[in-house]
Formats: sequence, C-alpha cells, structure tokens
Amino acid sequence: MQIPPAPKFELKQVSAAATPENVDALDALIILLPESALQKHWPLFPYSERFKKHYTAGMDTPEPRRVDLPNARATTAVIAFVKSGASVFDLLTLARKTLAKALENDPREIGLLIPGIADAQQQPVAEAVVACMTAAAFKPPLFKSIAHDKQTPISLSLLGIANKIDFSYTLAAAEGNALARWLTLLPANLLTPGEYRACISGLARREGWKFRFLDERRLAKLGAGAFLAVARGSDSRDAGIAHLSYSPAKPAGPAKTVALVGKGICYDTGGVNLKSAKSMYGMHGDMQGSAVALGTLLALTRLKAPFRVECWLAVARNQIGPRAYTQNEVITACNGVRIEIVHTDAEGRMVLADALSLASRDKPALLLDYATLTGTCVTALGTRYSGAFCNRQELITPVLEAGRRSGERVWPLPVDADYDESIESSIADVKQCAIENDADHILAARFLSRFVPASVPWIHMDLAASEHKGGLAHIPTEVTGFGVRFSLELLLKQGLPRL
Ligand SMILES: [Zn+2]
Repeated sequence: MQIPPAPKFELKQVSAAATPENVDALDALIILLPESALQKHWPLFPYSERFKKHYTAGMDTPEPRRVDLPNARATTAVIAFVKSGASVFDLLTLARKTLAKALENDPREIGLLIPGIADAQQQPVAEAVVACMTAAAFKPPLFKSIAHDKQTPISLSLLGIANKIDFSYTLAAAEGNALARWLTLLPANLLTPGEYRACISGLARREGWKFRFLDERRLAKLGAGAFLAVARGSDSRDAGIAHLSYSPAKPAGPAKTVALVGKGICYDTGGVNLKSAKSMYGMHGDMQGSAVALGTLLALTRLKAPFRVECWLAVARNQIGPRAYTQNEVITACNGVRIEIVHTDAEGRMVLADALSLASRDKPALLLDYATLTGTCVTALGTRYSGAFCNRQELITPVLEAGRRSGERVWPLPVDADYDESIESSIADVKQCAIENDADHILAARFLSRFVPASVPWIHMDLAASEHKGGLAHIPTEVTGFGVRFSLELLLKQGLPRL
C-alpha cells in the first residue's frame, strides 16, 4: 500500500499592503477583521467600502459571510470577525468555517487579508488559516468507481503581513495528522495487521527510523501474554508490536528519550463478548491511537526533535473464533502481572499492558500513550476534548496548557488509587476491568498503571475526541487524528522531556 504524499499547496507571503490587482488575481479571498471593526474603525483594504455596507455599527459578531466581487474572476470573498481574547481553538474553528465557505467554488488560488488585526494576534490568526488549509487539502482514501474531480487549492497568499512567519511547525503537525487520518480511514480489509506492518516498515525506510517487529513468536518468548490473548482469536498470525526508533542527528549531550505507545486494533469485533452491529460499525478506526503516535513521530522527525523517540505500536485484531480469549481466563503479562479477564471487548488495555511494559524498560524521560479506549471517557467529556491521566501532579499543568495552546483540548481526569477496589480480583493480581461499566475510563487508567513503573513519568490519553461529527477545530472531517498538534506543543514547547 502506497502512503500518499503530504497535502501540498504553495504558501506565498507578500509583505507589501494588498492592492486591488492582488485581489483580482485570486479565485477566493479570506478576510479576517478584528471585532472592533464593527464598533469603531473599519480598516482600509481593497474593496473595503463594499464589504462595510453589509454591516451596521455595533452589531454582534456575525458568522462568516460570503460576498462575490465584481471582478473578472468573480472572486469569492468571505469575511469574518476575530473576537478579542479568542483562544487557539476559537481561531482554528473560525478559520475552518470561513475556509469552508471560501472553498465552495473549488478555488485554485486563495488569499488571506487580516487588516486591523493587532501585531501580537497576526501570527496566531495566520497560523490558524494555514492549519485549516493543510487540513482541508488532505485527500481521504476513496474507493468510488467513478472518481470525483474536485479541484484542490494550489496556493495560499498571505497579503500585507509585514513580518515573515515560520510555518514549519504547523506544516509538520499537518503532515502527521494527515498520516493519522489516512491510516484510520482505510477499510478493515486493506489495513490488516500485516498490511499495517508493511506500511510502518516502508515509512521507517523513508524516514530513516530503526524498525523491528515483535511478532507473536517473539512476544511469546518475552512472556507478553496480555497482547497474545487478544491476538489469539485471529486466524492469521500477523499481529505484533512494531518498535520504531528516532535519534536526533547531533544530540547536544546525552539525549533524553520520549516513548510513544499506541493502541492499534485494526478491527474490534468485541471478541467473544461480541459488539452489536451499531457499536461495531466503524471499528476499523480502533487503531487511531497508534496512527496518532506514528503521526507524532513523523512530525517530530520533520522538526528535528532534539531528543530520542521510541515508538511502540500494538497492532492486532480483536476477533471471534475457536481460539479467542474468553471471560474468566487468567493471563500473565510480560512484567509478571496476572490478569483476570472480565470482558473481551476491553482488549485495548490488554495490548497496551505489554506495550507499556516493554516501553518502560528503557526508563524513558516521558511515556505518552494514545488509545481510543473507553466509551465512558466520551460519556464524561463528549467528543470535543480528550481525557488525560497523569501519574504525577506536575504533569497536569503542562498537559492542560498544551491542550489550550494547540487547540486540541485535553482535560485531566482522576487516577486515585482507591479506584482499585473496583478491579480487585479474588483469583489473580488484578481484574482487567469491572463487569459494571461505571468510570471505566478511570479503571482502565488504574489497570494500565500496573504496567508502568512509578519511576517513569507517564501520560495516558483516552482519545474521546478522535471522532467528532462535522469536524473539530481546524479538522473538517469526522475522523480528527486528534493528538499530533497537542503532542508537538507538549514535547517541543512545554519542554516535558526535561523532567
Ligand atoms: Zn474493544
């Protein structure tokens, strides 16, 4: 399977003030004004008087509005207003809605004008529009027999922004996100564990990562019984844990290690405790956690991250069959912890148990795992935020801050030890989950904590925001690939590997 190239368009930065000729050469124009323009000072820009007619002084901030210009190209102009104090999430959302209108006529050349936006807000506003453009340029895998011939934009011109802006961070995050969304959208019969392994190996060759695949035989030698219990139900022996390593080119001193772990269940039937048709539909996306880990590794590689990254992807299918694991089995994980099986649909925490154990062995400076793990996390937060569980108090502020600054919002949830009472087992060391579903997201985090030594700083992400109808922040599709931007902010700007 060929991994598609990163979504591309030409990004032009023109520092001189925009002229009517600049605007007339565009198919579409996005104009973002400060909301203060509605109260007092309407800024001057090409066709500004024409736009002003649509607004009355003092009106509430209106939704993005489309106005076609009376020039030869009938340029589609869309005008919207930026609230003072808008968060990054607000900016990304506004830019996505504005861009969606600007794209209505399949424009090839698009421009951005931000007259009157204060200097300090120019970069975040322009960054939001560029993030939305790259997210919209993403082409999902499509298998229709008649191809649709939608044009994609070829250029975005930023007009009249005096200071040149470095977009490398935004573009790297977008490339990682596109990879995560593309893998997640692939049909279950195409992204089998075997195909996924081939994809990962191809990427490793392209990016210069070290790659090894711990197949079932190797995992049996390591005693990874938790992973193998899930893999057992499949009739093909293609499951395993992919291990990728990135090293910085010239580390300044001994480089710290960040470990990324992802849940890669290529299809989740629920196993013997079979899901209903409604709950099973879409379960080819149950590998999104691993795709986000992979996308994050790709983005960190693009940005030449100054630390080592070890990435562990637990790739398997949760199937029914004569060999499938059942309730009331007792399984031993590779760190020796014995698990009483309670529900075969709680397979994510089983494959993560061994992956987390293996990732912890090198004592990383930070361990970060991603999983579409529990329905109760969605019940707790909805699909606008993802949940985070931290095994140290001092991780909570950087996690919250990274969510706020990246626009991929994350909320910390409790992991107090007394929750363990719900997963006490009379026959083994721990129950896999409780038979009642209450607070399953917290119990899952408590269960996983058995496989991460207390000495390793650890953040567990339950990706409640992995799918959101109508898109979320800058992402226009229901599958969001949530987590790559968050992770870049956390690892590169909040500086967490220092811990
Ligand atoms: Zn499941």
